[in-house]
Amino acid sequence: MKRLAILGSTGSIGQSTLSIVDSYPERYAVATLAAGRNVDSAFEQVLRWRPLVVSLATEELAAELTRRLRDKGVTGTEVVWGTAGSIACATHADVDFVVSAIVGVAGLEATHAAILAGKPIGLANKECMVAAGEILTQDARRLAVPLIPIDSEHNAVHQCMRVGTAAEVKQVWLTASGGPFRELPAEDFVAITPERALKHPTWVMGQRITIDSATMLNKGLEVIEACRLFDLPASKVRVTVHPQSTVHSLVEYVDGSILAQISVTDMRLPILYALAYPERPSSTLTFDLAALSHLDFEVPDLVRFPCLRLAYEAAEKGGAHCIALNAADEVAVEAFLARKITFPGIPRTIEKVLERTPESHPETIAGVLEADSQARERARNVIAEDASRL
Ligand code: MG
Repeated sequence: MKRLAILGSTGSIGQSTLSIVDSYPERYAVATLAAGRNVDSAFEQVLRWRPLVVSLATEELAAELTRRLRDKGVTGTEVVWGTAGSIACATHADVDFVVSAIVGVAGLEATHAAILAGKPIGLANKECMVAAGEILTQDARRLAVPLIPIDSEHNAVHQCMRVGTAAEVKQVWLTASGGPFRELPAEDFVAITPERALKHPTWVMGQRITIDSATMLNKGLEVIEACRLFDLPASKVRVTVHPQSTVHSLVEYVDGSILAQISVTDMRLPILYALAYPERPSSTLTFDLAALSHLDFEVPDLVRFPCLRLAYEAAEKGGAHCIALNAADEVAVEAFLARKITFPGIPRTIEKVLERTPESHPETIAGVLEADSQARERARNVIAEDASRL
């Protein structure tokens, strides 16, 4: 029986993880939940799963949940809050495996604490790897802590890498759906509304990652994530646009063989893989190969999707530039959703923030978070300057 800490339990990966626990009660149990800001959802999850510890984003939210649980007569769940609360969930003595799925750098300290506590990690939080990948992977290797990617592309790469050695890998191909604007002419990008950008063709995901898919910044973050997870230079991590989202990624070996992983577009599969690794439990997540008529692969357009170019540039520089790429994007996406900037304003903001970022390589999580808040400040300034010119 593996007892899980689910960091980000009310988000889409968290909910999918709970549905896996529901399907495999003989294999998995919930130990702790870090639930963020959604008290209603956290309340329902505590009633259903009875975790030892549940963490909310703030003290006020924790007090609200405590009151509701008391009114309902629920005992046995400790309610905690904030970063210290997420860390308590991640490092609890009864936890055997941590699912890291808090969106953004908010999950960074808890993920790092879990690694230092020797807990195997299922990693769904790509921002952690982008901002602090060097630190996290170094500590994980030093302590022999498994980091199993849940992000579908990296999960596919992890699966395809099991058949060869690292030295035999020529390069990795991450597939990208191309998002909803794959065929949109460049001149129409300025008129893209948040509503249109929030409609993703193949995956149902959270708001930020859906916008990031539309700008292809998401794929850029995934390039950096792959560099860190698989210890590859950016030149060995390629992107191919594959609108069907059927092949989740590919690994090309030095002998010319290319291995691909194909499955349904359902995050429960990479989650199950991560939880069960190195085993493969049987599941109902079957893929109908007979219904597959064709697979398309295209070269990504770095002119219409400058975010991908910016991500490669940041990947080459590493450190503060990767942190700034992620932080500036988060601020820019919020501004776009609030209708403060246009869709092309997202890459424009990121590019200006990267230009203003001095090269540095933080060696501690505190240093990463400091660089992150500096980049956010720069992004807010860039957006304010931009808006004043409209
Ligand atoms: Mg992905």
